[in-house]
Amino acid sequence: MGGGQRIVVIGAGIVGTSCAFFLQRDGHRVTLVDPREPGTGTSFGNAGVISRGSVAPVVTPGLLRELPALLADPTSPLAIRWAYLPRLLPWLLRLALNARPARVEALAASIAALTERCDRAHDLVIQECGLGELVRTGGWLWVARSRATLLEASATNRRLWDRFGRRYEFLDAAGLRDLEPALAPDLVAGLLIGENRWVLDPCRYVQGIARGFFERGGRWLRAEAQGFAFEGPRIAAVATSAGLLPTDGVVLAAGAFSKRLAGVGGVSVPLDAERGYHVMLPHPATSLRRPVYSCEHGFVLAPLEGGLRLTGGVELASPWAAPDFRRIRRLVPLAQRLLPGLSGEILSEWQGCRPTLPDSLPVIGASPTTPNLWLAFGHQHIGLTLGPLTGRLIADLVAGRDPGFDLSPYRADRDWV
Ligand SMILES: Cc1cc2nc3c(=O)[nH]c(=O)nc-3n(C[C@H](O)[C@H](O)[C@H](O)COP(=O)(O)OP(=O)(O)OC[C@H]3O[C@@H](n4cnc5c(N)ncnc54)[C@H](O)[C@@H]3O)c2cc1C
Repeated sequence: MGGGQRIVVIGAGIVGTSCAFFLQRDGHRVTLVDPREPGTGTSFGNAGVISRGSVAPVVTPGLLRELPALLADPTSPLAIRWAYLPRLLPWLLRLALNARPARVEALAASIAALTERCDRAHDLVIQECGLGELVRTGGWLWVARSRATLLEASATNRRLWDRFGRRYEFLDAAGLRDLEPALAPDLVAGLLIGENRWVLDPCRYVQGIARGFFERGGRWLRAEAQGFAFEGPRIAAVATSAGLLPTDGVVLAAGAFSKRLAGVGGVSVPLDAERGYHVMLPHPATSLRRPVYSCEHGFVLAPLEGGLRLTGGVELASPWAAPDFRRIRRLVPLAQRLLPGLSGEILSEWQGCRPTLPDSLPVIGASPTTPNLWLAFGHQHIGLTLGPLTGRLIADLVAGRDPGFDLSPYRADRDWV
């Protein structure tokens, strides 16, 4: 497709907004469609980590073995709403099959191929949208109360970091204290993934990219995309709650809610949601200097501009189910043990839906059935990390440019196990 085409991007999260930005940059006439403000879906509430270090799939053999214990423990990072199980079962079975060791190795290579390219795409949007003040360097830190716990919790990741050339360093109690003086003294073992960065406000980051898109002439339609009008095999218009939007091409980037419209476009994808929560806590007098992951309890405490963001765990339930904040609230006392200066006051609570395919890979590519439909969803736990890169790749595909590496692992018509 040459430049100057009309393109509708559905979904204004980090992924859709990045697609809109890169497509507009290529000279297309892009309309971003969402019933909500940019960055206020799942991209609002993440921990903010730009994680070049992420290489492991969502489920690994170790996690599978721990499953019964995790489901029995009310403070564990995994919960399931049993009423949703019958609908979820096919997705769960595929997820489990993808945890076989040989599969994990292959999937990790495809995740690593994306995360090793994430920083250049972020640097471009940071520079062109003037977002430098929102981004921090300094890595992210895993902490534990014993070296044995740290080694066990990080074993799969360390093996994959070694394989894919991601750098990390071990820290003893004194090293931890140097980096993070506010941590509790019983934390004696740490591991720093120094290349990771983080953003001080993930929502403002997306809105900054949206601003860059609008400044280049991009258009905004506050509406829900409801279906497509076809002319032969091609989409001629997007049916929205605000009327028909004629178009030459469509990018579907509606996060965890992409499955139905993908189906209307002729693509069947086993997409489901890993729901996640956060609470915002006031910064203590001495706060954290970087995001910290607790190996004992599986939560993250991230120092953002509105306070410390405590995120933890996965809830398997319908994306439309009402939030249940009890589990995330139970983590607050555990966070206070990690950071003794922390008060138990909760400033705000939030719930969102990670879009996850059973092989942990996103779909990034052209529709196998509809010539002018491109798909960009399923970024699971690393959508902030991969959003700008996905935008760059979709723009390459629309332009017919070589993206520079093999995108076949991310096709929508791949084998899911
Ligand atoms: C607790 C938690 C912590 C996380 N931490 C990190 C982290 O530290 N680093 C990281 O990289 N990732 C993290 N993630 C993952 C990351 O947040 C997601 O992968 C990412 O936000 C997904 O972005 P998205 O654009 O695909 O989806 P969204 O941000 O959900 O955007 C999708 C948009 O599509 C819109 N939409 C839906 N249906 C329609 C429709 N029919 N018409 C028009 N618009 C529609 C929605 O309104 C929404 O705005 C975390 C996630 C959670 C839940």
